[in-house]
Amino acid sequence: MSTAGFNSQNGTGTGQTYTNGPSQNPVALQQPPGVGYGMNHQPAYNPMQAKVLGPPNPALYASGPHQPVPPGPQLGSYPPPPAQPLLTRPQIGVLPSHTPPQSASPGPGPRQAQATPPAQATPPPPAVTSTSYYTGPPAWQYAAPRGPAPNHVNPAAAAPSHSSAQPPGPGAPPTSIHGYPQPGTAPPPMNPPPPHTYQPNRPAYGPPPTAPPARPPGATGTPPPPKVDAQCWGAASSARPPTEPDTQEGDVECPGDVAGNGPQAPNSYNHVDNRMAGAAQPGPPGRHLGHYPSLPPGYQNTLAPPPSSLHPALQAATQPYTQGPQPYQQQPGGPGPDQLSPSMAAMSLQSGTPEALRVVNLLQERNLLPPAPVPAPTPCLTQDLQKLNCSPEVFRCTLTSIPQTQSLLNKAKLPLGLLLHPFKDLSQLPVVTSSTIVRCRSCRTYINPFVSFLDQRRWKCNLCYRVNDVPEEFMYNPVSRSYGEPHKRPEVQNATIEFIAPSEYMLRPPQPAVYLFVLDVSHNAVETGYLSVFCQSLLDNINALPGDSRTKVGFITFDSTIHFYNLQEGLSQPQMLIVSDIEDIFLPTPDSLLVNLNECKELVQDLLKSLPNLFEKTMETQSALGSALQAAFKLLSPTGGRMSVFQTQLPNLGVGALQSREDPNQRASAKDVQHLSPATDFYKKLALDCSGQQVAVDLFLLSAQYCDLASLGCISRFSAGSVYYYPSYHHQHNPAQVERFQRDLKRYLTRKIGFEAVMRIRCTKGLSIHTFHGNFFVRSTDLLSLPNVNPDAGFAVQMSIEENLDDMQVVSFQAALLYTSSKGERRIRVHTMCLPVVSSLSDVFAGADVQAVTGLLACMAVDRSVTSSLSDARDAMTNAAIDSLSSYRQSALTIQQPGLLAPACLRLFPLYILALLKQKAFRTGTSTRLDERVFAMYQLKYQPLAFAMLMIHPALYRLDDLSDEGALNINERTIPQPRVLQLSVEKLSREGAFLMDAGLVMYLWIGRNCHQNFLSQVLGVSSYAAVPEKLCLLPELDTAESQRTRALVSWLRDQRPFFPSLHIIRDESQLKPHFMQNMIEDRTESALSYYEFLLHLQQQISK
Ligand SMILES: [Zn+2]
Repeated sequence: MSTAGFNSQNGTGTGQTYTNGPSQNPVALQQPPGVGYGMNHQPAYNPMQAKVLGPPNPALYASGPHQPVPPGPQLGSYPPPPAQPLLTRPQIGVLPSHTPPQSASPGPGPRQAQATPPAQATPPPPAVTSTSYYTGPPAWQYAAPRGPAPNHVNPAAAAPSHSSAQPPGPGAPPTSIHGYPQPGTAPPPMNPPPPHTYQPNRPAYGPPPTAPPARPPGATGTPPPPKVDAQCWGAASSARPPTEPDTQEGDVECPGDVAGNGPQAPNSYNHVDNRMAGAAQPGPPGRHLGHYPSLPPGYQNTLAPPPSSLHPALQAATQPYTQGPQPYQQQPGGPGPDQLSPSMAAMSLQSGTPEALRVVNLLQERNLLPPAPVPAPTPCLTQDLQKLNCSPEVFRCTLTSIPQTQSLLNKAKLPLGLLLHPFKDLSQLPVVTSSTIVRCRSCRTYINPFVSFLDQRRWKCNLCYRVNDVPEEFMYNPVSRSYGEPHKRPEVQNATIEFIAPSEYMLRPPQPAVYLFVLDVSHNAVETGYLSVFCQSLLDNINALPGDSRTKVGFITFDSTIHFYNLQEGLSQPQMLIVSDIEDIFLPTPDSLLVNLNECKELVQDLLKSLPNLFEKTMETQSALGSALQAAFKLLSPTGGRMSVFQTQLPNLGVGALQSREDPNQRASAKDVQHLSPATDFYKKLALDCSGQQVAVDLFLLSAQYCDLASLGCISRFSAGSVYYYPSYHHQHNPAQVERFQRDLKRYLTRKIGFEAVMRIRCTKGLSIHTFHGNFFVRSTDLLSLPNVNPDAGFAVQMSIEENLDDMQVVSFQAALLYTSSKGERRIRVHTMCLPVVSSLSDVFAGADVQAVTGLLACMAVDRSVTSSLSDARDAMTNAAIDSLSSYRQSALTIQQPGLLAPACLRLFPLYILALLKQKAFRTGTSTRLDERVFAMYQLKYQPLAFAMLMIHPALYRLDDLSDEGALNINERTIPQPRVLQLSVEKLSREGAFLMDAGLVMYLWIGRNCHQNFLSQVLGVSSYAAVPEKLCLLPELDTAESQRTRALVSWLRDQRPFFPSLHIIRDESQLKPHFMQNMIEDRTESALSYYEFLLHLQQQISK
């Protein structure tokens, strides 16, 4: 049936990659065991190292507060800064002696002499020359080599857990010795919290401000309650001791944690689950819920804006699970794996066919797009669990019902994986300050809403099932300011929560916010005009850069040489320092190139004002990007930070030089697309070096020409940076791109940022994570190194089922992101999601999340395009639809009937697959620039799902008949809500005007016979012929029609962190083909129509 598939283990597929096995990365497999990319030679900041007690390693930036480490020997050999008059250029406002003829001369010219120390006197740092750590070929996915070991248990830490669980002594309920209620009388672990919400900007929850009240009699042997100082409330972390050696987010134990050493009690679930179904059950005396203040009813009810205020295409991702249909009749239950009542085991289809499994004949049902947006499916959980579950905006799974076994998963032929948006901007985020962050002693899982409390003193981990003690401090509830209610702590009431981490979570003092800008100032760059936009934007937002009094900034510009800027306090104006020895780059005055922003703000502003003029007349055409990046890396290495690189052409000089690999004549070739993988290792190696030093590189590519993004992009991909691309950027010819660049820059400069971050994703024992998608470096089996993390980055992981989940009703997934805030706080953001386990194929299908499946398949297909070929990836995507629908027909359908049948929850799957095949990343037969294709691939890999879906399947609206019916009202603005139309020309009308929202770009297509009313009242023109050719702005007219239209467009834009440009196009516009290419349901010269595609699928399935 299939010739290529993502799941070659599924039997019918013969494709080589994307097995569901634990590791399929060919590059990783070639890597020698134990070799970590880019990490061997870097001694600093490895969270995988065991905790080292004692004084901090002096080599690890442990000394003085946030000063760069004294330069290494190779840097120290440079002459000290004051003795370099030859390097400085006092008159920065004047075009320097830097002139094209000089720079063109390769030999030692006048400036060569200026560049102080001779190259041979400066041994290159090992980071630049070392190649020993890299052996594999370039590819998209890097994972350390690994076997099928599941990620959930740290073997070393797991060992003692077995001995710790003792059988309970007869007749002695263990909890009674503490004077707390016995298990049977304990309140349920997941009481529905009262419907209060958090206050914005409320102080973090902390330990009690005063000593606790007298402990209950009999509570002997417990440690004294936590000592508290007032600073623990609010901004508590400022008083942290800064030099404690690290225990990391990872496996190292935290001293505050207490493992369960006491006898094991029966799971209290048997006693409480009857009461769990009810809403607010009164607790035992003294624990009335009515006394329990200000705890939100689960994250998703308080954090997400009301779905109705969101873009329809985004609402799908924002629907709280609890709003979805309740397909199954459910027994109340909880997360305990083995003490559930027998009736719980039959969490199956007992009440008829749920809507998700309604059989749809795709060949007959034409209008599959729902009038309302596609919601994230509701996991089949008890309401209590659903209320507490993580928002689908943050955490989604391709299958909201987890198959019990890998063979069942293989039968469904759907990929199993998670899609995450872990650092998403949240308006309401519970923040906890605590000296004791409670984690499982065995697997290091953070305590969360899905653990079970055996009694007041012990909790059972929902990932590894180890029984842990509840630390004394956790007995205090900072919300109610009362003792004895550990299950009401915010950590146990919120699936998304943030901790302010104590010093054990630091390897070194939290780094300051450090921003280094690396700017292309070649002739080509100056021609585009981007430099003045950048400088103005940074001037405008310089006070909004995230940071504190320690924030540092620096600038490097480059063409054929590298220019540094001495901004040291006390100078009357910035000094430019030119290094022309690009083969062996060095820092002329290492201490004065990154300066404190507050202290040197005026010099920085001076520089930004003069930079555009400084290079106004340059004729230098060459670009030594590689050397500039090396210099920037050296500059940032001591502290870590963010490197923002602006490049406008193919780098053609020195290290990292590239040659054009694109043949414009092949852009529309139906044959396979070449050169999707990098041409050189240089950028990836440097990115790994950067990652090791906590430096992330963001790349802004502004170019009309081919720049080899496939090679350049590696610098961001492996350092956890972002890639921005502005094709054909020009300050005069392309105003739409200019506006986009300006808006994106504003967001980029001012958005939240986390430094020196790591993210670990854990899952319940039996499940295994094996492939990661996004921008990062996989430091160990499940630890992602993220030198920077930004709120617009998405991630995806693939999973497999290593051990049967037979005895489990639910499984959990936890993503923990440890980062340093721009204010120097070490923080941990934890998201936990709980999903049911099912044993029948029908239930697996019923829980399929078609958008998450599509998003994950897109990531997998990008990898496959690079490691194998584009045609292979396209085949695999098609086969994913064929195989899953075929399996559904053969194994899940009870009544056979003719047609192409799909369960209702997967009815959009073929449409989305076809959309992917026609997407810029994967399409063939249509002229597609290589860089644009590669950029689309990047976006599919790291955009959060909601935005990726808009790219894959744009939203189409009719605008000429907008009305206020069903409109939203936000801040006294009326936002019309037109329905989303199918992407087919048959939905267009020459009398109308249609808006297509494709994520990064919007098209407003004006029909040839468009109503005069729309032309005059919205566009302000008298006739169709008067619509300007290149219009990208809606005029602000004082008409109801204009206001409605602008309200809709700006509201759509407000829904996303990036700025989509708007093109208003007539029927004969040059851009019309771009508009029409998104008409996914229609046939094109090179691609099937939706109906033809369905016929193709049916043919393959019935083979
Ligand atoms: Zn555990």
